[in-house]
Amino acid sequence: MNKKAVVIGSGFGGIAISLRLRKLGYETTIIEKLNEIGGRARVFEINGYKHDAGPTVITAPFLFDELFELFNKKRQDYLKFVPLEPWYRYYFHDGRTFDYCSTIDKTNQQISKYDKSDIDGYKKLLNQSKKIFDVGFTKLSDKPFISFFKMIKVIPNLIFLQSYLTVSQLVNKYLKNPYLRKAFSIHPLLVGGDPHTTTSIYALIHYLERKWGVFFCMGGTGKIVSELKKLMINCNIEIKTNTEVKEFIVENNKISKIITDKEEITNFDLVVCNADPPVVYSKLLKKYNLKRPFKKEKNLLYSMGLFVLFFGTKKKYNDVAHHTIWMTERFKSLLHDIFRKKILSKDFSLYIHRPTATDKSFAPEGCDSFYVLCPVPNLQGNINWDKESEILKDRIISELSNTIMPDLEKTVTDVFWMNPNDFNKDYNSMHGSGFSIAPIFTQSAWFRYHNKDKKIKNLYFSTAGAHPGAGIPGVLSSAKVVENIIKKELNIK
Ligand SMILES: Cc1cc2nc3c(=O)[nH]c(=O)nc-3n(C[C@H](O)[C@H](O)[C@H](O)COP(=O)(O)OP(=O)(O)OC[C@H]3O[C@@H](n4cnc5c(N)ncnc54)[C@H](O)[C@@H]3O)c2cc1C
Repeated sequence: MNKKAVVIGSGFGGIAISLRLRKLGYETTIIEKLNEIGGRARVFEINGYKHDAGPTVITAPFLFDELFELFNKKRQDYLKFVPLEPWYRYYFHDGRTFDYCSTIDKTNQQISKYDKSDIDGYKKLLNQSKKIFDVGFTKLSDKPFISFFKMIKVIPNLIFLQSYLTVSQLVNKYLKNPYLRKAFSIHPLLVGGDPHTTTSIYALIHYLERKWGVFFCMGGTGKIVSELKKLMINCNIEIKTNTEVKEFIVENNKISKIITDKEEITNFDLVVCNADPPVVYSKLLKKYNLKRPFKKEKNLLYSMGLFVLFFGTKKKYNDVAHHTIWMTERFKSLLHDIFRKKILSKDFSLYIHRPTATDKSFAPEGCDSFYVLCPVPNLQGNINWDKESEILKDRIISELSNTIMPDLEKTVTDVFWMNPNDFNKDYNSMHGSGFSIAPIFTQSAWFRYHNKDKKIKNLYFSTAGAHPGAGIPGVLSSAKVVENIIKKELNIK
């Protein structure tokens, strides 16, 4: 084909589009500012304790299978995805627990501990989730939303599916019990949204999990990155790490030059950004003041920040499930503090990852490896993270020590963290947000960053901030959208 593509950023969206472009015949180069590829899915190792830095929950595994199949390989020959049980364990403020399980029967047994009558409500919620999934995932997630006409065409569907409701409004329609309402509402937080403002399109995650399951990749998410890296090297994708793109030069409505901190790159046909779109438009393309799809960066709502605490323990906590959602009593008002008021409250809710529950290789013998994710305000809040990080770390360890991890204060070792400043610095994420722009209705589908720029003819986006959105299934689908646009432009079936 003799055409060249450059991909900026090596998160899963960047890796996936580089493989898809290579398969289309493009000579492909991927540029990453960090010293390794993977983006948020990078790995930290310290004194025998291993930590996936970001995504841990694997859903929709077929999206990874497809990447191997592009090159006539089987994902199963390289990566072992093991189903989890339970999928998540909820631990509520009063010590009650709820296991969200791999089968509906087992989940119903758990629901009956709280309110038997919600079993029927859960069935109805899942039915509604399937209806949303059939449109939101099956029909729309890998299709471009670059024309407003297409948006107009789907609006009747979206109204029929009640997408104007938020996830929590939808869940509350079907479930009565306050504990269950919380447990079944949290999914938007996994993609950076407050369930009380996120469009109920994201309730499709309930059915998506039921359809394909919830998995952990043996060796961790980092193992997926390392196997995909081997695939990239085998098919001659050029990988440039420790290289940051600083500016794009546009001539005749095309990017003609990429200026990095090391060199200037010319001679390519197209550029795909896996970098955060708000940063691309407001910094890398600043001087061109381009028209954005909907709103300018200052008017967008960004996802929350994340304080991620990594540590090992000198003993095993066998009662802690692989995925635990540890919830404080406040829910709606806590999220309001984080997303709207942007203040650091005294209380918090946590997601706890214990990979050693499934894969011993993450810690020395007889020990555990953990990360604890605490949603916090992004950098639009006025928080001194240099001071507050240490305090928050101590509070988290003390709360866990008093609840599900007795004596943690004595057994904890090799502690470090990432706060929103680190997300901003390491991933070039606008306002240090954990998941780019928030998944509210007016920032979804056509209203989200488009997968292809309207004016610059050779600029595409395969990333969490573009359609369809954040999360691994989201960004892997984003790469499919870009591939579909390019194929159409090249007249390839
Ligand atoms: C703590 C955490 C837990 C999560 N858990 C889950 C989960 O369990 N399951 C799930 O599905 N999702 C999860 N997510 C969400 C998911 O990880 C992300 O939405 C997804 O990985 C983002 O991928 P991406 O392709 O957009 O790129 P990113 O991973 O954001 O990577 C973008 C890359 O581009 C690089 N870059 C940016 N600007 C430049 C530049 N100018 N020059 C060169 N390089 C640049 C950055 O350094 C970065 O490496 C989690 C996220 C976090 C942070």
